[in-house]
Amino acid sequence: MEKVLIVDDDAVTAVLLKRMLEKEGFQVILAENGKEGLKAFAENQKDISLIITDWLMPEMDGLEMCQKIRQMKTEHYVYVIFLSAKENKQDIVAGLKAGADDYLTKPFSHEELIARVNVGLRIVRLQQELKKANHHLEILATTDMLTGVLNRRALRQRLIEELERCARKETSLCLFMADLDHFKKINDTYGHLVGDKVLQEVVKRLKQNLRPYDIIGRYGGEEFVIGIPEICYRQIIRDIAERIRQSVANTPIIINDTELKITISIGGTVAKPRLEDNMEAYLEKLLKKADDALYEAKQKGRNRVIIAGESNEGAHR
Ligand code: GH3
Ligand code: MG
Ligand code: MG
Repeated sequence: MEKVLIVDDDAVTAVLLKRMLEKEGFQVILAENGKEGLKAFAENQKDISLIITDWLMPEMDGLEMCQKIRQMKTEHYVYVIFLSAKENKQDIVAGLKAGADDYLTKPFSHEELIARVNVGLRIVRLQQELKKANHHLEILATTDMLTGVLNRRALRQRLIEELERCARKETSLCLFMADLDHFKKINDTYGHLVGDKVLQEVVKRLKQNLRPYDIIGRYGGEEFVIGIPEICYRQIIRDIAERIRQSVANTPIIINDTELKITISIGGTVAKPRLEDNMEAYLEKLLKKADDALYEAKQKGRNRVIIAGESNEGAHR
C-alpha cells in the first residue's frame, strides 16, 4: 500500500496536509516529531512509500530522522520530502545531503506539493518494479527450468557457500550424486517429453525426502546433486540415501496411463572442510568422490547406494 507519513509538530499544518492528501486518495499516517515519525515508519515500513517531514521539531528534528531512516535496511525505497520554513540554500543542501529527495519551503502551494508527491510515488513504483524484475531474473538465472531445482552454476555456488559455512562451524556436509538408471531407454521408448516428465517426478520424490535447508540441483541431464548439512554418520547417510533411492524405485511413475518402473543409483560422500581449504578445489574433489561412488553403484548393477570410503573422515584433502 502506498501510504504517506506526515511528520510535523504543528497540528494545523499536519491536519491540512492530511486532508489534502486524503482528498487525492492517499492513506495518511501522522506523527508529531522525528522520534514518533521514526517509530511510525519502523512499524509500517512496508506500507509507507513517502514521507513528508518538517525540519524543526522537538525531541528529534526532521534532519536526524531522515538520516536514521536512510541508515535503516528497508525493503523498498522510501521517498522523503522536506517541508520546512528554513529556506536558505545551505539548509536545502543540508536536507538533501541528509537523504531527502525533495525540498519544499513553507508556505507551500497545494498543487505543487501534490505534484511532487506524485513524482515521488512514480520513483518508488519504478524502484519496486525494478526490484521485482531483478528477483525474477535471479530466479531465471539460478533455476533449472525443467525441474525447478538449482541449475549447475547455482548449485556449485550454493555448495561452496555451504562448505565455507561448514568450515566455520566445524561441521560436515553430506553429498549425494544421483543418476537415473537406463534413462536413455525411457527416452528411446516413450519419447523425450515423457522423459522430461519422469525427470520432474523424480525430482519431486527427491525433494520429498529433503528438508528446506538441504541443497538440491541438477548437475547434468539426468544427474542430480544433493547436499545435506550437519550429517556425518555413515549409517545415517546410508539411511537417507536408501530412503531417496526407494522413493523412486518403490512406486512406479505413471505418465499417460503408462506405468514406468524407474530406478536411480546414488553415490555418496561426506565433506569436512577446513577454513584453509580452497573451496572450489575442495568441491571438485568432493564431486569426484561422489561420482566415483556413483560409478561403482552403476557397475554393481544399478538401483543401489554406494557411500565412498570406509571411515567417517570425509573427502580426501
Ligand atoms: P545409466 O544407467 O548408465 O545412467 O544409463 P543412462 O541411459 O541413464 O545414461 P546415459 O548417460 O547413457 O543417458 C542419459 C540420457 O539422458 C541421454 C539423454 O538423452 C537423456 N537426457 C538428458 N537430459 C535430458 C532431458 O532434459 N530430458 C530428457 N527427456 N532426457 C534427457
Ligand atoms: Mg543415467
Ligand atoms: Mg548420466
